[in-house]
Amino acid sequence: VKVGVLALQGDVREHCLAIAAAGAEPVEVKQPEELAGVSAVVLPGGESTTLSMLLDSSGLRPVLGRLLEEGLPAFGTCAGMILLAREVKGGRPDQRGFATLDVTVRRNGFGRQRESFESQLTVAGLAEPVPAVFIRAPVVERVGADVEVLAVLADPGGGASPVLCRQGNQLVASFHPELSGDARIHEMFLSLVG
Ligand code: GLN
Repeated sequence: VKVGVLALQGDVREHCLAIAAAGAEPVEVKQPEELAGVSAVVLPGGESTTLSMLLDSSGLRPVLGRLLEEGLPAFGTCAGMILLAREVKGGRPDQRGFATLDVTVRRNGFGRQRESFESQLTVAGLAEPVPAVFIRAPVVERVGADVEVLAVLADPGGGASPVLCRQGNQLVASFHPELSGDARIHEMFLSLVG
């Protein structure tokens, strides 16, 4: 199974390693032609504003957008989750994503004091906790009826926010599963790929 990894910016290499560790073949995607033959796509973390600009300059936006609307399985982490979210709060006015997953996210929602931190997450369907690295992470403020919440974490508002969500064959994480040397979340994504 070939899995495209959007390779415009961010932690591309780490995702490629995690995809390989989970048993699939990673393919770096920098231009539209490189999407041919991939069965799924990963949208890595980085900076969603920069990624938005690079999606335009690379010509990837219309091609990837069409594939996502047609149901290409997708895994978005951190900035990648922001790109898949239907609604983005605290974004730059000109940033645009694909809006294929019915959640509302707030950019950098965990706040400056907690810019970067680690946590052990209990994840639905996994026996042991998953180490999770959060870096200027978005907070999920709303999930649609079709969205399944697989893990939650205490948020700065005193509640518990979803940090791992699935809608059909799209999976999104506000943390970075590719940075912890644990491929279980990537394996979970591959199990959604037909
Ligand atoms: N804060 C970044 C953004 O808004 C996301 C950070 C990350 O991907 N580590 O895009």
